[in-house]
Amino acid sequence: MTIKGVVLSQKPWGEHDKFIDVLTETGIMEILVKGSAKITSKSGSATQLFAYAEFDISDKKTKKNFYILRTVVPIQIFYDLRNSVSAVALASYFAQVILYSALPHTNTPEILRLLLNCLYYLSKPQENLDELLLKCIFELRIASLLGFLPDVLMCRNCNCYLPENLYFSIEQGCFYCESCKKSGIFMPAGALQAIRHIVLRDFEKIFYFKISEHCKQPLFKFAEEFLQYHIDRYFQALEYYNKIKY
Ligand SMILES: [Zn+2]
Repeated sequence: MTIKGVVLSQKPWGEHDKFIDVLTETGIMEILVKGSAKITSKSGSATQLFAYAEFDISDKKTKKNFYILRTVVPIQIFYDLRNSVSAVALASYFAQVILYSALPHTNTPEILRLLLNCLYYLSKPQENLDELLLKCIFELRIASLLGFLPDVLMCRNCNCYLPENLYFSIEQGCFYCESCKKSGIFMPAGALQAIRHIVLRDFEKIFYFKISEHCKQPLFKFAEEFLQYHIDRYFQALEYYNKIKY
């Protein structure tokens, strides 16, 4: 059986082998890589963390619920990612979010695509797409793919479409204008427009938009807290990333 996917995690097994978790279009597969300590060159790099590769694996799972690797061909290794400590930390956070989420069957190909794009931009930094922006695009888009779509249409109370300033409630997943406010994260209209763009637009467009400096902090805060609230799990990689970034 042949599958394409990204290595999300790896753990050594015995002296010579390792297990890897691979995100594919149909979900996450656990694969035993025999003799990984001895594998060199191409096939070695194809089973490293964040590698995107084509894996030829055993047709059936073993009794213990994993597959066995036969051969592997790398598709994209994202070598340059390793030039930056913060990029590796962020990529690890992305991988952990996917590993610990209950992946919906229908959206898994989109999640794989989102991860591949984020890994690409992390390894080849773009002028208008800094790491923190990439992080928030990942967080908001994956939240909606996992079924947690914030209500971005209008003020929940008075139906105002684009208030100058607003309060976004993490718990309720909706926003209120200043006159209807109860609680939530304060943000200017520009941050709301960015959230709308990230969660509603076609995939091809989500990495391309302009945002004013003063809108970034509330947007980043909202994205991180919104995803955290719904997945409800502590991510070591996120804590580490925030420590080195701020
Ligand atoms: Zn209102």
